[in-house]
Amino acid sequence: MSSLPPRSSRLPGFYRLAVAERRRGLLEASGLPADGFAALDPGALSTEAADGMIENVVGTYALPFAVAVNFTVDGIDAWIPMAIEEPSVVAAASNGAQMTRPRGFSTRVSSPVMIGQIQITQVIDLDAAAAAVRDAADALVAEARLLVPRLAQRGGGPVALEVRVLARSGPDGGVLVVHLLVDCRDAMGANLVNSLCESLADRVAKIAGGQPGLRILSNLTDGRTVTVSCSIADAQLAPGDPNVPGAAITGAEVRRSIAAASRFAELDPYRAATHNKGIMNGVDAVLVATGQDWRAVEAGAHAYAARTGAYRPLAVWWEREGGLDGELVMPLAVGTVGGALHVHPGARLALDLAGAGTAERLAALCGAAGLATNLAALRALATEGIQRGHMALHARGLARAAGATGDLVDRVAAELAEAGDIKLEHAREVLARLRNPRVKDRP
Ligand code: NAD
Repeated sequence: MSSLPPRSSRLPGFYRLAVAERRRGLLEASGLPADGFAALDPGALSTEAADGMIENVVGTYALPFAVAVNFTVDGIDAWIPMAIEEPSVVAAASNGAQMTRPRGFSTRVSSPVMIGQIQITQVIDLDAAAAAVRDAADALVAEARLLVPRLAQRGGGPVALEVRVLARSGPDGGVLVVHLLVDCRDAMGANLVNSLCESLADRVAKIAGGQPGLRILSNLTDGRTVTVSCSIADAQLAPGDPNVPGAAITGAEVRRSIAAASRFAELDPYRAATHNKGIMNGVDAVLVATGQDWRAVEAGAHAYAARTGAYRPLAVWWEREGGLDGELVMPLAVGTVGGALHVHPGARLALDLAGAGTAERLAALCGAAGLATNLAALRALATEGIQRGHMALHARGLARAAGATGDLVDRVAAELAEAGDIKLEHAREVLARLRNPRVKDRP
């Protein structure tokens, strides 16, 4: 049941419903079987099944499972399943997605090409060895394809072989690394790639005249990326309910602040790390819900963020006339087959809820979730900053309106801001007390 009928991601008031009502609504809208959510209930992942997944099992461990709403990804509405312990992430994702409507997110997902590494050490003549491996590349790829006939039939399999010289001398002598590029289709592909590298390593070492070393995939999957973009009009950026009269924040102000926050992340790795954490809030929550290897994606994301030698933001935002544009590019190695999926009932349900029948769609949804949580976090930071500025200005205005002059304006304004009670009546009371310290302020 990997393809569900189209559904609307607009579920107004979903957050106000009881859990049973949320389930009922999703079941009705999706065509999932009536007992669909049993996959999430206690005991759905049996201790026996868990015991077969990892070592030394003593039980299972639960996390809240939720659905983020408002997502349109490549023109198709989607519910985004999330499993996460941190409050606000699901709300932030839904809120960020809401701002991108009606267009939603557009994505480009590359071919699902993973990199397997074969390390060769103690190579005497590195240049001759590299040339020999390059000459044999086509034959080695063809040989590797024969090892995964079913994957090749599905349009995947080994596609190329590349060589790099890593060291000319040192404790390991001359060192080469051979990259086997494998199109993994709907699998994440780690086991698949590792097996292929193990099968080829001895032959490659012989051709290179060296010793085979490690043979394992790289988690820097820079050949398997997702690019997500969105474009938001100023009106969508303005907070709906500025709680202070006269202190309404405009969409243009929010747009400028978000673009400035993005530039800050581009300049400073300390900020970029937190910026990227806001992206991974959304990405990881989907990865955990859908049974993915989130450590693999985390490792790849941060290695990719640092690939130029400086740690950079994975998503950037820039202003255009009347709105804000954003783009996220990151590696995303995910699968809709293999791994934990055949044993974890909750992960399968999450894929069904998301309508993610392919690894390509799942990667697109993960990326969209990441850009949405990044946007919501930046807007919250931007509006808080703007709000603080507005409140300070507003407090000074009220101090003057209450009759303060000279340095009393700042003193009254500071007290109003500190108390978080920025009203004319309060300004009058504070001013009266400051003028005559025996006058009691209200409790
Ligand atoms: P897997 O071993 O379950 O292999 C996937 C299988 O699915 C393959 O045998 C393939 O033939 C089959 N398949 C069926 N339909 C397919 C389709 N449409 N497209 C592609 N394959 C299809 O899983 P995997 O994806 O090779 O490995 C993922 C697992 O490896 C994860 O559990 C991960 O945690 C683990 N792992 C990760 C690392 C790492 O990231 N460094 C290292 C080792 C293992």
